[in-house]
Amino acid sequence: MAVPTPPFTEEHEELRESVRRFVTERLRPHADAWEAAHHFPDSVFGELAEHGFLGLKYPEALGGQGGDHLHDAVFTEELARCGSGGLAAGIGAHIGIATPPVFKFGTDDQHERYLRPAIRGEKIAALAITEPDAGSDVASLRTQATKVDGGWAVNGSKTFITNGVRADFYVTAVKTTGEGGHHGISFLIVDKQDAVRASALEKMGWHASDTGEIAFEDAFVPDENLLGRENEGFGLIMANFQWERLLMSLGAVAGMQVAWERTVSYVQERQAFGRSVSGFQVVRHKLADIATRIHASRCVTYDALRRFAEGEDAVKEVTMAKLVTQRTAFEVMDDCLQLHGGAGYMREYEIERMARDARLGPIGGGTDEIMKEILGKALAI
Ligand SMILES: Cc1cc2nc3c(=O)[nH]c(=O)nc-3n(C[C@H](O)[C@H](O)[C@H](O)COP(=O)(O)OP(=O)(O)OC[C@H]3O[C@@H](n4cnc5c(N)ncnc54)[C@H](O)[C@@H]3O)c2cc1C
Repeated sequence: MAVPTPPFTEEHEELRESVRRFVTERLRPHADAWEAAHHFPDSVFGELAEHGFLGLKYPEALGGQGGDHLHDAVFTEELARCGSGGLAAGIGAHIGIATPPVFKFGTDDQHERYLRPAIRGEKIAALAITEPDAGSDVASLRTQATKVDGGWAVNGSKTFITNGVRADFYVTAVKTTGEGGHHGISFLIVDKQDAVRASALEKMGWHASDTGEIAFEDAFVPDENLLGRENEGFGLIMANFQWERLLMSLGAVAGMQVAWERTVSYVQERQAFGRSVSGFQVVRHKLADIATRIHASRCVTYDALRRFAEGEDAVKEVTMAKLVTQRTAFEVMDDCLQLHGGAGYMREYEIERMARDARLGPIGGGTDEIMKEILGKALAI
């Protein structure tokens, strides 16, 4: 067992071993096929649930494992070894962004009807905030929920939603008043139904993930599916952002580590001009540079994780971790691809997939530019 690096303990390292075994034996062998099919089976959620991985941070009373965010952090790091950014994203959206608001803001009844089945892998969740005309400027969202007998009728559209096609329920941001800005936003748990039409988008990477475009056409949502307080949904959006950004940082660092390991063994084996490619000083310097960037990214991320786990208001540190790790991951993947030569451009060596998948990082979960805006405020500049 590896010596734990704070904030992790031996217990976390034991979990790491069991997640790594699962990822190696149950996910990794299928990753290429799922990437090629642009789909992974829903049954993956059931398998994850059998091992308790969908409820690591949730209380045992709700069917979870009674752990905390650090357990999910370990899971996220190991999931980065699965061989498919899209697979990691689909699982991550369910565990990391769609179910946390149900746990934090949900009623007992909502926990029973949505969280427990989600932890059991029987219901798949998506978080639906982004719209065609409202991404970074989230407060300008327009999907409208109008009061009807016994609930709401929802009309509008969402886009770029992870698990958007397969989801059984959508944790959805809507407007519940005619007011502009961040007032009058609420969250509804919208069940899959005929009035919710979803289709998958073609994209650069994350191929195994069903990034969906969703149209709500008078979709009925009963009163009891209001999540949190009416017209106070903006706070709910903000509540999970720190955790989402930390998860993205952890995933990026772990992904860079995988790319580094593969690249080192490739350049050690590859021969050119009568010696292994790693024998060239310029290659060794490049590898030293990559290792340094990975270490720096890990230090920033673990510092933010430790602060977050201890309950600190770590907005500044989490934002910095998201900002530095996502761009660095894409640059590191590109450097690793270059060190593979022509093989780097081929599907077989996987580094091209890692580079494509990494490109999402500086966009998703808040763009680099938005991270800098947040830092501008946090640093009072
Ligand atoms: C593969 C994928 C999966 C996703 N999954 C989900 C999901 O599950 N759920 C969900 O709700 N959303 C999801 N998203 C949406 C994602 O969060 C948004 O794409 C992201 O927040 C950016 O919004 P946008 O695409 O509308 O870009 P825009 O907001 O249109 O930004 C366009 C450009 O303008 C810049 N910009 C905007 N405002 C400013 C500003 N104030 N200052 C400087 N520059 C600015 C941006 O940084 C960017 O470079 C996903 C996106 C992708 C691509």
